[in-house]
This record gives sequence, C-alpha cells and structure tokens, in this order.
Amino acid sequence: MMKIAVLAGDGIGPEIVAQAVRVLEILKSDGLAIELENALIGGCAVDATGEPYPEATHRLASQADAILLGAVGGPRYDTLPRHQRPERGLLAIRKELNLFANLRPAILYPELANASSLKYDVVAGLDIMIVRELTGDIYFGEPRGMEMRDGQRVGFNTMIYSESEIRRIAHVAFQAAAKRQKKLCSVDKMNVLECTQLWRDVVTEVAREYPQVLLSHMLVDNAAMQLVRNPKQFDVLVTGNMFGDILSDEASMLTGSIGMLPSASLDEKNKGLYEPIHGSAPDIAGKDTANPLATILSVAMMLRYTFNQEEAAQRIEHAIKKVLAQGIRTKDIAEPGGQWVGTRAMGDAVLS
Ligand code: NAD
Repeated sequence: MMKIAVLAGDGIGPEIVAQAVRVLEILKSDGLAIELENALIGGCAVDATGEPYPEATHRLASQADAILLGAVGGPRYDTLPRHQRPERGLLAIRKELNLFANLRPAILYPELANASSLKYDVVAGLDIMIVRELTGDIYFGEPRGMEMRDGQRVGFNTMIYSESEIRRIAHVAFQAAAKRQKKLCSVDKMNVLECTQLWRDVVTEVAREYPQVLLSHMLVDNAAMQLVRNPKQFDVLVTGNMFGDILSDEASMLTGSIGMLPSASLDEKNKGLYEPIHGSAPDIAGKDTANPLATILSVAMMLRYTFNQEEAAQRIEHAIKKVLAQGIRTKDIAEPGGQWVGTRAMGDAVLS
C-alpha cells in the first residue's frame, strides 16, 4: 500500500492539490494501491489549532510513505509571532522527517520556450535536475554568530560537511542520474574551500559504485555561468546546501514558468515530501486561475522516487506534454492575449 499524506495548505494550495489528487484517484482506479489522508499545515493549521505543524499532522506525515504538499503562507499570517508563521510548518516538517535531499528538476517544454528570458535555442527542451543537500553546510554549521573583536563587529559562519553527509547525498544524485541520461556533474569550490575538497573526494569515491554514470566536477562560479550559457549540457547537478540554494533558483528561472516546476525532498529511505516550487499565490487564490501542473508533476516525481512506479510517472508526464502540445494553457503560461483555461479545466485536460 502506498500511503500518501495530503497537506494542501493555504492560498492556491487546496485548488492545485485537488487536481493532483484527481490524478492519483485515476491511477488508483487503474489498480495502484494508493491510500490518501488529509491533514493541515501552515496558516490553515494555525487557524484550526494555533500551530503551523500540529501534532496530528506530524503523526500522519511520519507514518506516510510520501507527502504531497500544496503551499503555505499568506498576508493574513505575516504579522503572527515567528513560531506561528506558516513557513515554520514547512521548516519543521523538513527537519523532523530528516529530508536531506532536495531534487529540483528544471524542465522547459519546447511549447513554452517563449516564457524564458533566454534565447529559444538555448533553452527549448531543457531538462536538468539539481540535487541539493538540504540539512547541512554553512546554513547549520557551528560556531556561528556576530560578536565584537578588536573594537569592531564581526560576523561568522562555519562551512562544514562530514563524509557521511556527502556520501548519502552523492548516492541520491547518482541514483537520480542512473534513472535519467546517466551524467552527473558535482559542483564545489575545491580551489578555495577545504570543505568542498572533501566533497569532491567523497563524490569521486562514491562514483566507483555507479560505473554506468559519467561523473564530472565543476567549480561553482563556472557552473553559475554555464547554466545561462549552455544549460542543456547538464543532466543532473549535485551540490551542497548554499551553492544548491542559489543554483536551483537560477536553474528554475531559466524556464520562466514557476507554475510548471515540481520538487522532491527525500530522506535516507526515499520517503519524500513532494511540492511545487512556487508559493501560495494569495493574489490569485480562489479564482480558479492557478496552474496545477507543477503539483501534478510533483505526483509524477513521487511515483518515480518514492514508489518506483516509473511507468505511472511517465504516464503523467506524457499526459502533460500532450496537453501542452494541444495548446491548452493556464493563464500564467498563455501567450499574451491568448486563450487560457482555469485550474479545474487544466486538471480535466490532463485526466482525459
Ligand atoms: P508565489 O510563488 O506564491 O507567487 C509569485 C507569483 O507567481 C505570483 O504572482 C503568483 O500569482 C504566481 N504563481 C505562483 N504559483 C502559481 C501557479 N501555480 N499558477 C499561476 N501563477 C502562480 O510567491 P510569493 O508571492 O512570494 O509568496 C506568497 C506566499 O507564499 C508567501 O506567504 C510566501 O511566504 C509563501 N511561499 C510558500 C512557499 C511554499 O509553501 N513552499 C514557497 C514560496 C513562498
């Protein structure tokens, strides 16, 4: 049985998740053993319980094999004390479930290439995956702080990775590459930072277990440049938390369509949290105009990475390609002045 916790969240979250759930229901009626259960996270959880990540949600999420999340947040919650902010719910679930591996594909369907700020030829057909380590690096390293030294303020952080942390994210990246074009580029700054020399050494060691995957290394400054110069040279990129933060945003923006991009955050047993990369879009919530495709594509990632159901994952991805080829668009991806359909109608198109 595939146990999926469904956390729709706030804003457009319930609208887009509803369409993804319809896709899961179809797969269920076709024979996949899927069990869905809903729980609250974010602002709606604060409204109901006073907490953005209530105990009941934590219990459900801990017991589930995978979690489908819409988005959290909204202006109504921006004045709450920090511990009650919806985004705290997200940080809590990632941390408590030890979701250390963040997978963010950046895919640009040829039909949508005009949405990118780069030239058509550079990005049409782009399909890369950034694997970012999510629970270590300079974001969590100790010591950290600000203090007075010699009569002036200094700020400091610690970039730190243990070999076990590097090894486990490297395995995730090699396995992802093995399921794709079998090319992995590891990004570091080994010419300056010892921490990332260790990163390069350990990734190189792990590579021996994946002879079918071609490993290369690139310095982060060059990687940032190559991503805009010739992004299609990449298949999978793997990097640490801070470099990955920056490069994954850069890569997703190559596509220019925030409503199209899914993501996964995995633990050591490939349990995962799947969500679109965009937020709760309060400006369009409740208007049936949000694009549900990023959330539906998150379901495809869930089937691939947590449940090993490659065929079902591809079925969803093919359906979306077909819908786009037919010219069906939500407002965010329509040509200026062009026709577009609502959230539910886009769900209908994918289902049919
Ligand atoms: P956003 O991603 O919600 O919206 C940015 C812009 O993109 C908006 O104009 C929005 O209408 C549009 N957009 C986003 N998703 C879309 C979709 N599926 N279809 C069509 N258009 C879409 O970012 P924001 O406005 O900076 O943040 C809004 C709220 O979301 C804030 O409270 C923020 O904290 C929260 N947030 C949550 C997450 C998350 O849940 N993972 C991520 C980012 C932001």
